[in-house]
Formats: sequence, structure tokens, C-alpha cells
Amino acid sequence: MNFIQTRGCDATRAKSVTFSEAILNPIASFGGLYVPENLPELGEAFLNEHLNASYKELAAAMLGRFEIDIEKNVIDEALKLYDKFDNPSNPVPVVKVKENLYVSELYHGPTRAFKDMALQPFGVVLSSIAQKRGEHYLILAATSGDTGPAALETFKNRANVQVACLYPDGGTSDVQRLQMVTEDAKNLKVIGINGVFDDAQNALKRLLASSEFKAALQEKNILLSAANSVNFGRIIFQIIYHIHSYLELVRQSAITMGEKVYLNVPSGNFGNALGAYYAWKMGLPVEKIIISSNENNVLTRLIKTGKYDLRDAHVVNTTSPAMDILKSSNVERILYDMFGFERTRELMQDLESKNFYELSSAELTELQKSFDADFCTGDEGKAYIKDTFDNNGYLMDPHTATCMKSYETCSNPAIKTIAYSTAEWTKFSPVIANALTGEVDAQDIVALESIAKEAKLSIPPMIKELFGKEIVQKTVIEKEDIEKEILKFL
Ligand SMILES: *Cc1c(COP(=O)(O)O)cnc(C)c1O
Repeated sequence: MNFIQTRGCDATRAKSVTFSEAILNPIASFGGLYVPENLPELGEAFLNEHLNASYKELAAAMLGRFEIDIEKNVIDEALKLYDKFDNPSNPVPVVKVKENLYVSELYHGPTRAFKDMALQPFGVVLSSIAQKRGEHYLILAATSGDTGPAALETFKNRANVQVACLYPDGGTSDVQRLQMVTEDAKNLKVIGINGVFDDAQNALKRLLASSEFKAALQEKNILLSAANSVNFGRIIFQIIYHIHSYLELVRQSAITMGEKVYLNVPSGNFGNALGAYYAWKMGLPVEKIIISSNENNVLTRLIKTGKYDLRDAHVVNTTSPAMDILKSSNVERILYDMFGFERTRELMQDLESKNFYELSSAELTELQKSFDADFCTGDEGKAYIKDTFDNNGYLMDPHTATCMKSYETCSNPAIKTIAYSTAEWTKFSPVIANALTGEVDAQDIVALESIAKEAKLSIPPMIKELFGKEIVQKTVIEKEDIEKEILKFL
């Protein structure tokens, strides 16, 4: 299958490209994104056939239907990385929390956040394409805390790929920072910046667009790519777990095959939610996709009013920082799917030039057929964490907690919900400890130990050992010096 472009095609690019090309050069004509030409139809037959398949078998079968230009042995090798999850035979447990609410836990991978679901296999795929083409890539990543560790973990010691990862020094949790600065491999460079996440993100965007930087890389025979969540190479791995979670509910006799469910997704850049939408379009029985946000509630407003309005918007720092986003990139792929490339180009150009777009009422009706949304404040989230722990014995992180609000306000209680848990308690422990006991901890290790005691859990080894590991990545610089620092590393 080939990939086409959300904003149509300019004269300089091919109308359609292979999967490999779409993931190596993820930005399409007019600044658009690549999308599959058409989605494979799976239908109930596929679900029935794979009812008892393992996660990896399901993934291989689904990826097979996409007919992408990646050899089967590479896909198999990529999927083997799910063996690194807590339970290799079921990397994504789905747990009943209350009567009709189930939580699909996407965080059982090496870095304890859901970014591993896609980035783990993506690292193998990208490295193998680079080797096959005899090319060397520099992957740039800017992170507020979860993408960085997951990207470093997946590309560590992989052939033909180097990674430069930018993070705001002091802007991540202790665990997130330690996950990055203790990564020891020759092909990885972690750079702390005196600034905030936006400084890191802006530096990354500037470098990706800079022809001088590209020329300097070319002299070293290095090409440039990015591992951010607009890359379809990540999205494709995010369709699988929605299908898996549904089949888990059938296997647990919580639903019967064909019964519709809500998929409730804590959203930032909309990659997870887009995977849910594609799974639905491919035949998963879904009632609606519910988009959960924090105080940065642009998506709630879009889905409720049809207006994407950034004219007076500022990012606020919340207790769920991985969702502190205003420009939610993957919404564009939904616009394309519903309204076509001409309208998508128009809307996205409005967003870029006026910081605003508005759907027509017919378009809004169409959007609301698939999506509903609500947002949850940090205080509400902490109350949900405490309440769900006290009354249901289930511990969740602040990102997952945003789903609890929309679960109450957006769903028909007769219909079952799968809510997605995107991070383990270990990654955002000070907020959770505060929710459970009221304590205020300056350090993650104090909060971790307190939660472990309170909830009778043990701190998983890969988190515990971080605190004793040697810090090998010591670079912290001014944002003006990023380019120089990266070239020095190469
Ligand atoms: C990245 C992330 C999200 C947001 O996911 P999107 O696919 O960008 O919408 C939510 N929660 C956590 C913990 C994350 O790391």
C-alpha cells in the first residue's frame, strides 16, 4: 500500500510514496502529513479469526493487511521487542476497574509510558530501512519527558542511526531525566537546555527546516529524520492495541463479539486517538471515541464547538505534562479522512496564518458522530486518583485520570468503556503521592517509596536502579548552542 498526502500534492513530490519513504521523510506537500491510500477492511471475520491470537500474532496479521514495503522478518524482529514488556505473552493487560469501566494498560514497556508501544518496534524498522539503503540517519527528538527516554531506549546501539535528544533542564521529572542522562551508548547524545520544552521543540523545528544544517550533515553523509508522533511509522503500531484491548474484553466475557464500546483516550498530539479511529474504520465495533484532555483543552473545544482557536491560548503547565499541547498534530489526519485534502489544506493554512479555524455545522456534526470530549483539571484528576484507589483499589497516573471525568460526562453508562492508561504511577509519582496522602515531595524517590508503601506495590527494577546509575550524559547548554553541540557529537 502507498501513502498519500493530507494537503494534496505539490509539483515537487510524488503523488504517492511507499511506507519507507513516508517514515523517512514524514513531512508531505504544503506541510501536510502522509496517510494510507485506503485502510484495510478487517471486519468481524478478522476479529473472530484472531480472538485467541497472541499480541504479536495479532500485530503481524494486522500489519500484513497494510501490505507495506517492510519484509516479514523485519516486522517479526520489531514485534519481538514486545517480549521486553512485563508479560511477553500479553504486553497490554486490560483490567476491570468498575462495573463497565476497563483500563487498557499501555505502560508495561521498558520506559513505563505508552510511547514504548510504538517506538520500540519503530526503532527496528527505521534502522533496518537505513541499513538496507546504506544510509545513515540522525534522529532528532525534543521531549517533555516521555518521548525522549522511549526514543533513546529503542535506538540504543542500532546500526545506521544516531539520536540527539533535547530536553528542558529542570522541566522533566527526576525519573524522566535519569532515564535519559544514564543512557550510555555511542550513538546517543542527550542535551539539556536552559529553557522550557517549547525552546527544545522550536530548536528541533528550526534544525529540521534548516538547509545549512542539512548541508553540514550531508558533508558527514548523514540524513536527517525525526521520531515525533506525526510519523506514520509510529501510528501504524498504535492501531494494534485498540484491537487487542477489544478482543481482551471478549476473552474476559465482558462483552460479546460485535458489541460496541467507547474508547476513551487521554490525548495530546492525538496519535493514540488516531490509532483508535483507524481501528474503528477498519472494523472494530466502537460506539464513540472520547477525547480526554487536561486544562490545555483545545481538543475539547474543537469537538464541542467546531472551533480550533489558539488566538488567546497559552500552554499551561499541568499535572499531566505529556498532554500539555496546543497544536495537536494528528487531528489533521482526521480532517483529511472526513473532509478531503482541499478542505484540510484550507483549515490547516487558517490555523497557521490566523491561529484559528472553524468547521461548518455539517462538518461539526460529522466530527461529533465519531468523537466526544471533555477535560479534567489537575485537582479533579487528583480527586479521581484518590477516589479510584480508595474505592476500587486501582492506582492510576494523572494522564489516565483525565479519562475519569469524560467517562462520567460523555458516556452512556449502559455501554462499556475501554480507557487507556498511558503511564505507570512511577513516572509521575509526586502528583500521585500528593493525591493519595496530601504530602508534597520535592523528589521522585521520596514519592515512589511513599506510594509503594501506601499501595503495597514494589517499585519496578528499571525505575529503582536509575537512582544508582552513573550519569553519563552531562551536557546542559544554552539554546543558541544546540546546532554546534550536535555537530560536535557527530
Ligand atoms: C504522549 C503521551 C500522551 C499523549 O498521547 P498522544 O498520542 O500524543 O495523544 C498521554 N499520556 C502520556 C503519559 C504520554 O506520554
